[in-house]
Amino acid sequence: MIGARVPRLEAEKYRKILLEMGIMDINYKIAYEKDYILIPLKEEVSGYDIIDYEFLPLDKRKSSLREILSEKIPSSLLLKLRAFDAIGNIALIQLSDELIPYSKIIGEALLQLNPFIKAVFRKDSIEGEYRVPKLELIAGEHITETVYREFGVRILLDVSKVYFSPRLSEERKRIASLVRKDDIILDMFCGVGPFSLMISKKSDPKKIYAIDINETAIYYLKKNIALNKTYNIIPIHGDSREEIKKLEPPDRIIMNLPHSSFEFLPDVFSTFDRGIVHFYCVSENIKKVKERIIEESNKYGKEIEFLSERVVKSYSPNTDIYCIDFDFS
Ligand code: SAM
Repeated sequence: MIGARVPRLEAEKYRKILLEMGIMDINYKIAYEKDYILIPLKEEVSGYDIIDYEFLPLDKRKSSLREILSEKIPSSLLLKLRAFDAIGNIALIQLSDELIPYSKIIGEALLQLNPFIKAVFRKDSIEGEYRVPKLELIAGEHITETVYREFGVRILLDVSKVYFSPRLSEERKRIASLVRKDDIILDMFCGVGPFSLMISKKSDPKKIYAIDINETAIYYLKKNIALNKTYNIIPIHGDSREEIKKLEPPDRIIMNLPHSSFEFLPDVFSTFDRGIVHFYCVSENIKKVKERIIEESNKYGKEIEFLSERVVKSYSPNTDIYCIDFDFS
């Protein structure tokens, strides 16, 4: 049988490409060889190091997490199992209270099914000003630093010290597609820089001011600027409330602090005359969010034009994270 030999560090990228091309043979297990991963193929494909290899057939009965776990966890509890987030070679999973006693079993099953994952952490509540999750290692090695890749952007981060969500990748791509070459961007709560980096790489605007109050997030943002060779991002460590007052007026402002973004609207409306805002917030009702934006803007004599709105992801049974794009002047 044939396969493609690809470097371990880029294995996930190639696995996805070959899977999407329909060339990867999903009936066989991926194999390992020192710093390489061997991906089973149905047919030869150019541009790859093609090898002969006896791949082991995948045991189809155990091909999904729920199937593996169904032998070990009562089915009523399994219904509560949520999707995990893969950030580089680290998996984060939130477990409901009833599933916590099964943490180790779930972690081991995730490792078994995802050969690229080296550590599985149970993610508890996200806390504090830095929005950092509380993590508990449930399987694998205790590694917390990793490189996550999305649409050609590489993001180095420590999952235990900074906020990061892979679930916003489409949203970052969307915002980047709206940015024009001569725009000045303000990323008010930049974290390790996923929005700024994507915008810089895809749209290359004039300047991106990226602020975060978590010094470790800014440390990683600086590393990520070098990693992605994007030199129009200006990292700023500090409180956005103060820092934005020192800046030239931006064309676009990203306010990605969904729990408390409303607290910062007065600062934005009182500091800048005009601009487009990409406003993220947690709410049970988008109408209420828009009403509150108008209420705040009235206090500062600003006119609002709503440009678009969307549910970015669900947050709890009754609330979602929304993004509302609006123009103010
Ligand atoms: N935009 C980033 C992303 O998508 O990964 C990070 C979003 S995270 C929800 C919010 C970020 O805001 C955290 O990194 C936190 O440290 C930062 N933050 C909270 N309060 C802040 C403030 N007053 N000024 C600047 N940054 C702040």
